Amino acid sequence: MFEGLSTRLSGILDRLKGRGALSEADVQEAMREVRRALLEADVALEVVRSFTDKVRDRAIGAEVIKSVTPGQMVVKIVHDTLVETLGTDGVALDFQAVPPVPILMVGLQGSGKTTTTAKIAKRLFEKQKKKVLMASLDTRRPAAMEQLAVLGKQVGVDTLPIVAGQSAVQIARRAVEAARLGGYDVVMLDTAGRTHVDEALMAEVAEVERAAKPHEVLLVVDSLTGQDAVNVARSFTGRVNVTGVVLTRVDGDGRGGAALSMRAVTGKPIKLLGTSEKMDGLEDFHPSRIANRILG
Ligand code: GDP
Repeated sequence: MFEGLSTRLSGILDRLKGRGALSEADVQEAMREVRRALLEADVALEVVRSFTDKVRDRAIGAEVIKSVTPGQMVVKIVHDTLVETLGTDGVALDFQAVPPVPILMVGLQGSGKTTTTAKIAKRLFEKQKKKVLMASLDTRRPAAMEQLAVLGKQVGVDTLPIVAGQSAVQIARRAVEAARLGGYDVVMLDTAGRTHVDEALMAEVAEVERAAKPHEVLLVVDSLTGQDAVNVARSFTGRVNVTGVVLTRVDGDGRGGAALSMRAVTGKPIKLLGTSEKMDGLEDFHPSRIANRILG
């Protein structure tokens, strides 16, 4: 059976009970387990390295207080460092702007962008009583536009009427204008994705950003794509002003490693988690929950 990191660390370190401080060799052995657990949780290699370095520095020479075992103490250091790296609890979407507030959704095709757009719209409409307009900018995939319209009907949120032949920028401008005239609070722009990051995609997203001047740019990332997700995140944050990350398919990501990688690489807050295919499968992000999952 799989043993969680907490148990493994206690197994290694608790034979040292009674000693005042942890030696470098003790910590070294414990760090091998931390490293292994993070890699099993699919945390990006570079993030694993910097994270274990930080934990090592904190653990070496740390006084073992009498009430806890050395294992428990290192588990606490790992937990606290995880929470600190993962960032702030429940960072809300920011609506401090003159309505209609534009929210730009970016990410690769299949990451869950369209689903997440509708989930967020539903939540804003139901919980915060906001009047939301959604628009799909995916000019190459009429099916994606249709998908958003279908989801809009399902959750009771308006979608911008589809006009064939317009560019992404033209649709974005039309959406913002329609939202303004229609008295909407929020206008959500679901950009086109590609299966891979390419220059045309990035140029289009950047152009839409310039035209729509979004207040939030949410990067949607599939948490099951592991190391690849890190490269995707880096490409997007290099080109557009990402204000937050939404991790999808967290329901399938048993160990929660993607959250740590995303946060460490982008430095952007993780704002929401996608937890199912259903329209109510959207949750706030709580660092300590992810930290506990990684610790096992
Ligand atoms: P897009 O191409 O980025 O717009 O991706 P879609 O929104 O079309 O999502 C692709 C697939 O992933 C669909 O089948 C969604 O139902 C599914 N999906 C999206 N988010 C989640 C999630 O959080 N959990 C699960 N299990 N499936 C999801």
